[in-house]
Amino acid sequence: MAKIKEDCIFCKIANGQIPSNSVYEDEDFNVILDISPASKGHALILPKVHYDNAYEMDEAFAAKVFPLATKLAGAMKKALNCDGLNIVQNNEEAAGQTVFHFHMHLIPRYEGDEVDVTWKQHESVAEEQSEIVKQIQKEL
Ligand code: AMP
Ligand code: ZN
Repeated sequence: MAKIKEDCIFCKIANGQIPSNSVYEDEDFNVILDISPASKGHALILPKVHYDNAYEMDEAFAAKVFPLATKLAGAMKKALNCDGLNIVQNNEEAAGQTVFHFHMHLIPRYEGDEVDVTWKQHESVAEEQSEIVKQIQKEL
């Protein structure tokens, strides 16, 4: 059972102990504006209970995250009149996570903005791909 974690800034923000620009709140989540936005309207979905990252999240809770993301994405698209929107979620430092309380980014995109959520593409090798499929399937 997930709990609030002492000394976690997102636990404090999600539960209203530190003020934030909250755009949505329910019993499980607080959705706030990012303090250093990548673009106008950049928002973060914060669970009120603490999970370090996505691996820790139980299925029942995880099932609540994406419906909320789509609800917010639709509202933000209308409200901000953005041209696109990235839904991004980083796990561990190597993947760019800097705050170790699960959160999902909603990043509105505007034609010509300089937000960078891209990566270099590489060629795939057929045998390696089928080995990867097997390795992942073993763990499911
Ligand atoms: P990540 O790199 O995925 O861990 O994202 C952390 C995000 O949290 C960054 O976009 C930060 O700008 C944002 N952030 C950090 N501290 C605060 C805060 N006190 N209030 C709102 N957003 C924050
Ligand atoms: Zn936390």
